[in-house]
Amino acid sequence: MAGKVYIVGAGPGAADLLTLRAAALLRSATVVLHDDLVPAEILELCPSSAQVVNVGKRCGRHSRSQEQINALMIWHARETEAQTIVRLKSGDPAVFGRLGEELDALRRAGVEFEIVPGVTAASAAAASAKITLTDRRAASALVVVTAHNSRNEPLSKTIFGPARPTYAVYMPGPDYAGTAKGLVESGHELATPCAVVSNAGRADEEVRYLTLGELASVKGIPAPALLIVGEVAAEHPSQRHQDLLSEISREAREPYHYDRLPIHPSLG
Ligand code: SAH
Repeated sequence: MAGKVYIVGAGPGAADLLTLRAAALLRSATVVLHDDLVPAEILELCPSSAQVVNVGKRCGRHSRSQEQINALMIWHARETEAQTIVRLKSGDPAVFGRLGEELDALRRAGVEFEIVPGVTAASAAAASAKITLTDRRAASALVVVTAHNSRNEPLSKTIFGPARPTYAVYMPGPDYAGTAKGLVESGHELATPCAVVSNAGRADEEVRYLTLGELASVKGIPAPALLIVGEVAAEHPSQRHQDLLSEISREAREPYHYDRLPIHPSLG
């Protein structure tokens, strides 16, 4: 039996900004691993039988390292009875949510996963401020940036430094050759990884991973589509099933006992 991990966005904190897909998954979850910013009202959707664990970085003495969180997901996915594991993160889980490390760990362990997007803070904040982030009369780009990166670089370096940003190009078609040309002329290499996603989040979604060079001659991409450009779009090798215990640290074998702290009554 193999469990599945759903990486779910909880939205900006108002329970009614949670997606229906997220709510349905929470209602059927057997294990929920959530961050601090997720409000109690959303957690109340979980069945009383579910094991609900705060793995938040700010959760005082119970705080978990990234390795421990990875290990918990994998450990639950390997339980004898198939589990529905919801990894609940604030906003959109893929926007500044340290998701990369978690996905790497799941891929390495061969654990099946799915990502459920959420309303990101930038969208919620713009709505609260009653502004549009891309008012076409004033802005044709939206830069999403963090003041805290893993390299502890100052914001000025983050914005202007050599590290290439990710570009999310809305309305990239139908002239993909023209879009690719524009990106190359602005300094991108032909080998830059891209992902073109049609009908994202819908039953008929289609994802193509290609390079900027290949994008120029691509045909038949259904609309609506969104183009993601940058190193993050490099296709990951298909999930490999490797021996879990040889792959991950000892925390994965006994994750809850690792620091000897009872973190949930049902584990006591
Ligand atoms: N994945 C989240 C962001 C995680 S980083 C998302 O997509 O929104 C956490 C930061 O997000 C906070 O420090 C704050 O800057 C911002 N944030 C999260 N929820 C917010 C809210 N309701 N209002 C304003 N900012 C918020």
